Amino acid sequence: REDLTEVPDDARTRHRDISEELDRYAFAYYVQDAPLVSDGQYDELMAELKALEAAHPALVTPESPSQKVNGGFGATFAPVTHPERMQSLDNVFSSDELSAWAARAERDGATGAGWLCELKVDGLAIDLVYERGRLVGAATRGDGVTGEDVTANVRTMAVVPQQLAGDDVPEFLEVRGEVYFPVAAFAEVNAGLVEAGKAPFANPRNAAAGSLRQKDARETAKRPLSMVVHGIGARRGFEPQRQSEAYEQLKAWGLPVSSRYAVVDDLEGVWAFIERYREQRHSVEHEIDGVVVKIDQVSLQRRLGSTSRAPRWAIAFKYPPEEATTKLLDIKVNV
Ligand code: NAD
Repeated sequence: REDLTEVPDDARTRHRDISEELDRYAFAYYVQDAPLVSDGQYDELMAELKALEAAHPALVTPESPSQKVNGGFGATFAPVTHPERMQSLDNVFSSDELSAWAARAERDGATGAGWLCELKVDGLAIDLVYERGRLVGAATRGDGVTGEDVTANVRTMAVVPQQLAGDDVPEFLEVRGEVYFPVAAFAEVNAGLVEAGKAPFANPRNAAAGSLRQKDARETAKRPLSMVVHGIGARRGFEPQRQSEAYEQLKAWGLPVSSRYAVVDDLEGVWAFIERYREQRHSVEHEIDGVVVKIDQVSLQRRLGSTSRAPRWAIAFKYPPEEATTKLLDIKVNV
């Protein structure tokens, strides 16, 4: 294996430049809510970085944007350490790549466990902490280890219970999900911003992040933010055997669980789910950029484990990006 000194200078320089550029774009996107480039441009640069690393594995370090949860935290909110690390997801873009991922998971023991299919909600990740059923904290993903304390903002969201319902609530529970901006309300909020002489949001994902991460929680309260649950983190007094079982319990406790998830037996079922939502993509109340496939059984999730940035037991199948047109301004914006 070649070491760093053997990597040609031009490859090393290009790798450093792209890494710095990606870090800068991620900061603008996650922390400043003001993307400098389109997602497509960001993804292309990331693909170039990964190609360089595939050609020269010595370039792969823990600091590389390909190896970490990209994001961060700004000065507006207090930093909080997540009880359990938050991760990103690996992506596939074709049925062949999806089959290869599933074959690898099966080789590692994930057979007959059921595949949990969910929509990949295009919003921003949120971490809710409940102690004895009471909401005590909410944080953004940040760099996966440390996020931003947005508890006051999240408390203004009607769909997030302040207190879990029922007398069987766990002692401690970390709930993960995605905060989104309903598509139906997007044009209206932009019209209001333009009227007030402010810049409109480029897309609903941006509107969700910008609305949640307001300095003044009263501003967040005016926005129709919603949320859907997509996982659990640290817990005490709650040991579900399957992720779908966890969802049913979370729903019973009053948390916003999607009615659109499905557990299927085989890849054919997974593919049918992907195709169904490829067609129905625009009939969903939030934007989606793909489908997330997870191994349903928690013991198998544990056996497969994670890399430094993503679980091995889940994968995001991404639909091709769409070019969005804001009706409001009648101009094309890249999203
Ligand atoms: P990601 O958005 O591809 O996937 C990971 C995230 O998906 C998770 O953290 C989770 O919050 C979310 N998610 C949604 N539905 C889920 C479900 N059902 N189950 C589990 N998780 C679910 O990865 P990322 O690292 O958050 O972001 C990378 C993407 O963000 C890039 O591909 C790019 O498109 C975009 N980005 C754009 C810019 C820019 O400047 N335009 C900068 C940085 C990132």
